[in-house]
Amino acid sequence: MTQLSPFDQIVELSPPDIEPYRAGNTGVPFVTTFDSGQAGPHAMICGIVHGNELCGAIALDHLFQHDIRPRHGRLSLVFANPDAMAQYDPARPAASRFVDEDMNRVWSPDVLANAHRSVELDRARALRPLVDSVDTLLDLHSMQSNSTPLILSGPAPKGRTLAASLESPAVIVADTGHSAGRRLRDYGGFSDPNDGRNALLVECGQHWRAGTATMAIDTAYRFLAQLDMIDTDTAGPHLLPAPAVPQRWIDVTDAVGVSHEDCRFAGDYSGLEVIPTAGTVIGMDGAAEIRTPYDDCVLVMPARRLAPGQTAVRLGRYRDLAAGDD
Ligand SMILES: [Zn+2]
Repeated sequence: MTQLSPFDQIVELSPPDIEPYRAGNTGVPFVTTFDSGQAGPHAMICGIVHGNELCGAIALDHLFQHDIRPRHGRLSLVFANPDAMAQYDPARPAASRFVDEDMNRVWSPDVLANAHRSVELDRARALRPLVDSVDTLLDLHSMQSNSTPLILSGPAPKGRTLAASLESPAVIVADTGHSAGRRLRDYGGFSDPNDGRNALLVECGQHWRAGTATMAIDTAYRFLAQLDMIDTDTAGPHLLPAPAVPQRWIDVTDAVGVSHEDCRFAGDYSGLEVIPTAGTVIGMDGAAEIRTPYDDCVLVMPARRLAPGQTAVRLGRYRDLAAGDD
């Protein structure tokens, strides 16, 4: 049954039953590693770093239900924050993003090593030895607004290359994350341009739309096929048609933080709007105007809840993938 969320979004998805995956096989709850016995990379697919982003849990459940196993190397399937998803309530679907703090802002060595404790920090510390052994990560997320799905590749060219190899979603965002703390995607060698490890965060669509889960499933199978962990016959039935438009990437130049309680946008932005003229006012943060810094500025993932310390929106420029970095 569909239901309207506080943002007037239709809630079409329900959390899958992940209890069968609690035991796992690694000693860490909700973590399962399949070892092919053949040499190869360690790949990890993770979902529900944010407990209200159901698509990742649905995609992982899909892989389990279809007995997906790697042809080479190892594959770890990780329900990152099950305590948060356990609090999911379709009447308040946004409330279960985390229990104590945002689990996608704690992935720096100093934060992981400090004395502070929270549900999310404890969980991140439990996952850390596994993450330290991962060569290639796919972290499945979703968004507040009805934006086109995005691949967040990080700023290094290696992330963009991996994103382009998946051929979908159509928009790649090369960004550095949030001032409020480091994302899993940016942890350790994932963000080091000279390290072979690589990671993608995919924003599969709006949190509770059915199509978002379909995109998460598609992305997971594309990722495994790209790593040659599954063959194309296995992946094929679960793939969506390739995007009708060529992939493009957005070079993110600015992350606009929120400083005041009364921060608001000038329009009802959902993301990927292109603001033609430099200096256009796109919002107010208290008495301060938020202006676009250059012509043809793209708005990336404008937040619908604007709270001090959070990122309001990221700003960038569309670039042609074939044109390279220059
Ligand atoms: Zn998320």
